[in-house]
Amino acid sequence: MITEMLVEQVIDGEKIPLELAHEIITKMPSEQLYELADEIRARLHPDRVVTYVVDRNLNYSNICTSICTFCAFYRKPGSAEGYVLSYEEIFKKVEEMLSLGGSGILMQGGLHPDLPFSYYTDLLRELKTRYNIHLHCFSPPEINNFAKVYGMSIESVLIELRAAGLDSIPGGGGEILVDEIRKRRRTECNSQEWLHVMEVAHKLGIPTTATMMFGMGETINHRLQHLEKLRRLQERTGGFIAFIPWTFQPDNTPLGRKFPNRVPTEEYLRWLALSRVYFHNIRNIQVSWLTQGLDVGRRGLHCGANDLGSTMIEENVISKAGANYKATEEMLVDCILQEGFIPVKRNAAYKRLQTNP
Ligand code: SF4
Repeated sequence: MITEMLVEQVIDGEKIPLELAHEIITKMPSEQLYELADEIRARLHPDRVVTYVVDRNLNYSNICTSICTFCAFYRKPGSAEGYVLSYEEIFKKVEEMLSLGGSGILMQGGLHPDLPFSYYTDLLRELKTRYNIHLHCFSPPEINNFAKVYGMSIESVLIELRAAGLDSIPGGGGEILVDEIRKRRRTECNSQEWLHVMEVAHKLGIPTTATMMFGMGETINHRLQHLEKLRRLQERTGGFIAFIPWTFQPDNTPLGRKFPNRVPTEEYLRWLALSRVYFHNIRNIQVSWLTQGLDVGRRGLHCGANDLGSTMIEENVISKAGANYKATEEMLVDCILQEGFIPVKRNAAYKRLQTNP
């Protein structure tokens, strides 16, 4: 039962049981839930800072052996529309990002069947040698694919990538970490494999983010199981630096024919707020303005989020599925100021790059 005492305990940073999370998401009025999440955010971030990052989403290749039904980005091996970027093309994109005041790249691609491992390691090395940038690269499904394609352990893959310059790992491909759902969506990397990559990364001291993509036919219990799996892993490792919930973008995807409607704003904000309440052990919660739009991004800052994410100088994955929101650094800063917070630029590992103004 949601009692006043329980609310006090949650605000004080106590871990809440899964059953209580179920009760909160199904019964608590939205305004009360947003207020609760906001109080937790205020306790964790009393300086009223809201962070954001200027970086570039760089997709080195769209060739993929998986056929996730929620994805509009991939092309099968052999497709005439498949591409692999050359190093020169990547350097050019990095230079554009740097000229716009960016600090790094979020580099991801499909699950390529036969690019040599040296394509990735040499690329990271070259990037680190040429530029002073943060490399936030390769989601767990890609790392899992590297291990399979090159016959290496996850640990060896990560050690080599880190030696080449990898700084942190994005939480992409988490979707919903319940295999019943993942099998239905034809996701190649299962939940255990995804969590294992993250656990090994954390043990090696590589920070990562965690995500949840929802709104593709899963139940409330599936979403709660997802949160619980992340929280348990975080209890063991402490390696998740942020949690980012975002929603399925249906356009141009096979799954979009079955689920053509986007998650309503209120439902998104309720899950954002619940994640702030649930993750007593994850410091940063990011609102996904990129899938929700800037107006929802603003509202999210009062529903538990302390981070407005990235300007995303380039985005190729969800924009293909219908999320076409754009923002400059100035727009993000204005939003944060107008909502009564202090904007501070960070890098992909949530390290602040400015002191508080
Ligand atoms: S989501 Fe990733 S793994 Fe799945 S098909 Fe798209 S590119 Fe491939």
